[in-house]
Amino acid sequence: MSLQFADRLNNVETSAIRELFKLLGKPGIISFAGGFPDSAMFDVEGIREASSLALSQEPGAALQYGATEGYGPLREQLAHFMAQKGVKELSLEQLIVTTGSQQALDLIGKTMISPGDKVIVEGPTFLATIQCFRLYGAELISAPVDGHGVDTDVLEKLIAEHRPKFVYVIPTFGNPTGALLNLERRKKLLELAVKYKTLMVEDDPYGDLYFNDAPPPSLLALSAQVPGSRDWLVHCGSLSKVLSPGLRVGWMIAPPELLSRAVMCKQFSDAHTSTFAQATAAQYLKAGRMPATLDKVRQVYALRAQTMCNALRQNLGDAISFVQPQGGLFVWASLTGAGGKVKDGNAFAKMAIDKGVAFVPGAPFFCQNPDHSTLRFSFATVGEDKILEGVDRLKQAMDASVSASA
Ligand code: PMP
Repeated sequence: MSLQFADRLNNVETSAIRELFKLLGKPGIISFAGGFPDSAMFDVEGIREASSLALSQEPGAALQYGATEGYGPLREQLAHFMAQKGVKELSLEQLIVTTGSQQALDLIGKTMISPGDKVIVEGPTFLATIQCFRLYGAELISAPVDGHGVDTDVLEKLIAEHRPKFVYVIPTFGNPTGALLNLERRKKLLELAVKYKTLMVEDDPYGDLYFNDAPPPSLLALSAQVPGSRDWLVHCGSLSKVLSPGLRVGWMIAPPELLSRAVMCKQFSDAHTSTFAQATAAQYLKAGRMPATLDKVRQVYALRAQTMCNALRQNLGDAISFVQPQGGLFVWASLTGAGGKVKDGNAFAKMAIDKGVAFVPGAPFFCQNPDHSTLRFSFATVGEDKILEGVDRLKQAMDASVSASA
């Protein structure tokens, strides 16, 4: 028997990265490959208390079916959380809770993309978004990025030429680049949205993970300064990287006409995000624990990022180039091929696994014109000692690449 699957599946393939992940089970491997936060960082005590309060104070709501738009007290807490980040005049009707921000992206795809529609994303961008938008039949167009995020001049030309259904960006410490879009480019993005009447989707799961100075305001916060831009803006947020991805609590802020359709689609999908998780998250935020949690994760990740960047510079020298991230979970680097060393990310990833260290090659993160020299390292889940050891293994793999090619 052979099952006849939907045609839409022809647009996507299982990722090359998954193949690599199969090799990660090797004993003793040090992994810079993951895209997740460190589980040792989870505020287990705080979440235990919040879930216990949810059960004692609101057991009916926490265990019953709930509204598709989200649990009222959580929506209030999230609006308050956003207000602290400079997002004013946010009414509850403008925000819905989603099952992770991943679901918000899926709902955007579901409500906005017809087969053949053009969508502009950054090159590179978050892999699951590429796959998700392709599943809905989008033709993806890649806007180039530099060390400061997406090049808004090139983006404008692409928008003018292709008239996309929407543009998807991760302006703050994005996955995979960790880059930070500067204030000027942020304003330009909002102006482009208004000028070309193009929906701009801001994905922002990493914005709170800054190491020193706070980043410029989100597009959503800045939209108050660019008349008309709020009508063309969607913002996706998440508690995954700062609190816990297992809670699956994300949110979406969007123009009402989009939000009502997204709610309709969510109804047919999961009816609502887990009420127990939402009530727990609401209690957690209400207890005022978030600032201390953020302080802690920022400090730990900042130290790891610094350790990794110093070690990469020391051990790999001019064989690699990167911009040191100011936040987030990732170092995005390019192999330069200096001194006859390996220049292909995929080949280097295999050599590195042989030496007991893993990372993700960068090419799969591009929807077009992949740059095969790129790599993504995550420093988030590895302690400093292991980071040093892992980078030392990278050096061994790099050195071996010269003798292999000699
Ligand atoms: N957007 C980006 C850029 C991400 O890196 C991730 C998680 N890796 C998500 C969205 C989805 O996160 P979640 O669904 O856990 O909120």
